[in-house]
Amino acid sequence: MAEFDGLRALVTGGGSGIGLATATLLAERGAQVACLDINASDGPFVEVRADVTDEEAVRAAVSRAAEQLGGLDILVNNAGIGAAGTVEDNSYEEWSRVLDVNVLGVVRVTRAALPHLRRSAHAAIVNTCSIAATAGLPQRALYSASKGAIQSLTLAMAADHIREGIRVNCVNPGTADTPWVRRLLDVAEDPAAERAALESRQPTGRLVSAPEVAAAIAYLASPLAGSTTGMALAVDGGMQGLRLRPR
Ligand code: NAD
Repeated sequence: MAEFDGLRALVTGGGSGIGLATATLLAERGAQVACLDINASDGPFVEVRADVTDEEAVRAAVSRAAEQLGGLDILVNNAGIGAAGTVEDNSYEEWSRVLDVNVLGVVRVTRAALPHLRRSAHAAIVNTCSIAATAGLPQRALYSASKGAIQSLTLAMAADHIREGIRVNCVNPGTADTPWVRRLLDVAEDPAAERAALESRQPTGRLVSAPEVAAAIAYLASPLAGSTTGMALAVDGGMQGLRLRPR
């Protein structure tokens, strides 16, 4: 029997990058998977379209996913957007937008999913956080604040929901080779030099791969992680473990 046989997972941001790799891996390991995204996904998943900033749409999409899968056991809160700059550089509109997607987006999807997760015998939430939550990255004030909130929320939710049998953990990726990062490199002045700089700040000397992050998410979502809750698992090429500070 496969590890996720009989389990039903909802992955937000499942249309691309880490979310797509996670949805694919969970499905390969036996889960039934729904993807919630503003864009289409290429994978063989139940697709529910919603913008995580739209509470009505999120509620409808989560309930459609639960209906089509026959319930929900796993929620992967992964949809997110980036922002560059110091605390002065981003406009208040940008602050509101990024916090709305990255923080309130997680709140909206979680609130819609909790009633379904409470009925599961193996309920787990995994949030895609970031090394930015704790690394003190330069030029990432807004993004870091949004992911710091997610790491704190993960811990608080783990405490609130453990008595209901719901585990809550997060993964903290370093720079991962996804369409998001490739888009950023495409517009860099010298894409090759920028990629080399990103690679060299991770002790492994390369970017993290999306399947590596997906494997960490799958572990935390698995019934085999049944004794793990309130944790942040770094998938960052050794940055946190080796206490290295980024440039
Ligand atoms: P990506 O851009 O490749 O994929 C993100 C997906 O989220 C897309 O399919 C997009 O359509 C969806 N999405 C964006 N805004 C949405 C919204 N408002 N409503 C619904 N869906 C929305 O990005 P990725 O690199 O795979 O990033 C996924 C997650 O991983 C994000 O939360 C990001 O902060 C986090 N992360 C990424 C990296 C990295 O280096 N790539 C590092 C650390 C953390």
